[in-house]
Amino acid sequence: MIDLHIHTNKSDGVLSPEEVVDIAIEKGIKAIAITDHDVVDGVSEAIEHAKGKSIDIIPGIEIGCDESDNGFKEIHVIGLFVDYKNKDLIRFTEEIKNQRRNQKREMINKLNKLGYAISFDEVAKSVKGAFGRPHISKMLIKKYPDQFSSIQEVFGKLVGVGKPAYVDRKKIGGMKTAIEIIKKAGGLSFLAHPGVYKKEDSLGLINVFKAVGGEGIETYYPYHIICPVLGISKKENSELIHFYQDVVRKMELLESGGSDFHGGDRNTLGEIKIPDEILLRLKDKIK
Ligand SMILES: [Zn+2]
Repeated sequence: MIDLHIHTNKSDGVLSPEEVVDIAIEKGIKAIAITDHDVVDGVSEAIEHAKGKSIDIIPGIEIGCDESDNGFKEIHVIGLFVDYKNKDLIRFTEEIKNQRRNQKREMINKLNKLGYAISFDEVAKSVKGAFGRPHISKMLIKKYPDQFSSIQEVFGKLVGVGKPAYVDRKKIGGMKTAIEIIKKAGGLSFLAHPGVYKKEDSLGLINVFKAVGGEGIETYYPYHIICPVLGISKKENSELIHFYQDVVRKMELLESGGSDFHGGDRNTLGEIKIPDEILLRLKDKIK
């Protein structure tokens, strides 16, 4: 069993890279990819911690892209086997970090105007990698326990898309930009969780993704756990996986898969059995 889509506290996950490695070993997972949002900060720690242990760490990243030209607000591209020390990749992630910080600064200004007394600096102290809205949410829960009891609640009331304190983040570019950066860093690009879109829409998107240089798509994904809006059962989830595996064959794409584990209430590690062959095929390709 493998898992090629995992987050740590270097982005919006709950656990440190070390903790993620330990839990994955406990679950009997043989290889994991650390794919934090827009950062590669957790990769070296995971590799270091995994030394001498029975687990293989694949360096990765998940890049948020603006595809509004194609009718998609935010698309996620997974890069696997990236050289996490590549200068272009590092520069790219630094730029995104700045954009994230600017967006959060503006959001905190809005929150101040709405009467919430939190400062950018105090929230920033709790950020270990990518600055995310969960960091702001946690601070609000801490300071206003009578008003908020969970991150979801803060998102629903204040910081979710379209809510009073939300500010859009300028994206660094479309899928093409992300794919180019991943290629420069020696990695392979995958369209993350295509099943979150309507089937026809996703097929159009996969076409564009391939046309701009993308190598594959994520077939294995726990939609039945992560996306309640889809309202699908475990069995229907297997059917969705098969549907995208068919797409992979017909379009001659590569296949990837992961649990999108974040820890906390996104406890999906080991919930979906992803066969080792998937990784073997990718390793063949990367040689
Ligand atoms: Zn993810």
